Amino acid sequence: MYKKIDLKKQFLVTGGAGFIGSNICIELVKKGYRVRCLDNLSTGSIDNLKEIIFLPNFEFIYGDIRNYSTCDVAMKDIDYVLHQAALGSVPRSFKNPQMYCENNVMGFLNILEAAKKNKVLRVIYASSSSVYGNSLTMPKIEGTEGMILSPYALTKKENENWATIYTKYYEVETIGLRYFNVFGRGQNPHGMYAAVIPKFIKTIQEGNRPEIYGDGMQSRDFTYINNVVSANYLACIASKEAVGKYFNIASGERIFLNSLYKIIAEFYDFKEEPIYLERRTGDVRDSFADISSAKQYLGYKPEWSFTKGLEETLNWYNKNQEKERSNIS
Ligand code: NAD
Repeated sequence: MYKKIDLKKQFLVTGGAGFIGSNICIELVKKGYRVRCLDNLSTGSIDNLKEIIFLPNFEFIYGDIRNYSTCDVAMKDIDYVLHQAALGSVPRSFKNPQMYCENNVMGFLNILEAAKKNKVLRVIYASSSSVYGNSLTMPKIEGTEGMILSPYALTKKENENWATIYTKYYEVETIGLRYFNVFGRGQNPHGMYAAVIPKFIKTIQEGNRPEIYGDGMQSRDFTYINNVVSANYLACIASKEAVGKYFNIASGERIFLNSLYKIIAEFYDFKEEPIYLERRTGDVRDSFADISSAKQYLGYKPEWSFTKGLEETLNWYNKNQEKERSNIS
């Protein structure tokens, strides 16, 4: 699969020091592609890039997508833009909607405008399952979105709208990828806004009881990082029919939070129950994707099931914990 794009082509990964972006950068650099990363390190870290940072086919630009000239400079000689830079977290977005709009919407507009000026071949951008809002349709199918439930989700929906406009009126080829709860190596387990899988793992590793917001019967379509990396690549080579559209990128498996908890607790032989707290505003109850459109237009196939991905992830965090311990002692 990774032989379809000429090795002379150059990629720009925005947000490349973050969880998803760094995994994309590492995979492309290892395959021999020239990759430039643009990141302001607001939530990402250079540490995520340590295995490629000094390689000749990798370039890091410390900069902010809110600055148009930075985007313009970063886009020079670029063929494909894989746009991951954004502020995540539904609960945090309620605290500062303006900052979310500036980062996620205005930042993306700068990317689209710079892509237009520099005539890049295609812009692939990270959207999110959160755009389905309060839709009760199950599984979630593109075109059945409900009412938006958070500022974060609104920024992602706006990205899709702006991308559609740039494709239609400015001839910028765009494809949106609606990621569903991505997990895997390198995801930040720290802080109150950490994603549920690394948070459960870290809390149990420290011998504490993880918290679940609600009764634990909410469901998610947890998607292993390798599937997301390959979706980005596939979107670059997809036929023109896919351009101007957005696709669910998921495992296509429905996992309840209580089941997730059980698997992780069993892995660590942790016998205690989680702490159940009140549901959080803006949280979607159920999220489970229909991935037939991504299959049809991108040739996407989740090669990594939830179970296989979780096994890899648990092993990775376990190894990392051992490393952390040996660094301390
Ligand atoms: P992350 O926070 O690990 O990575 C985001 C990166 O973007 C960070 O390195 C951060 O420093 C950078 N960034 C943020 N604002 C920036 C700015 N103004 N200028 C330059 N760089 C900036 O998050 P992630 O989980 O890797 O998410 C990547 C993308 O995928 C985001 O767009 C996110 O909304 C989307 N997404 C993620 C998930 C998930 O489950 N992780 C689900 C749906 C969508």
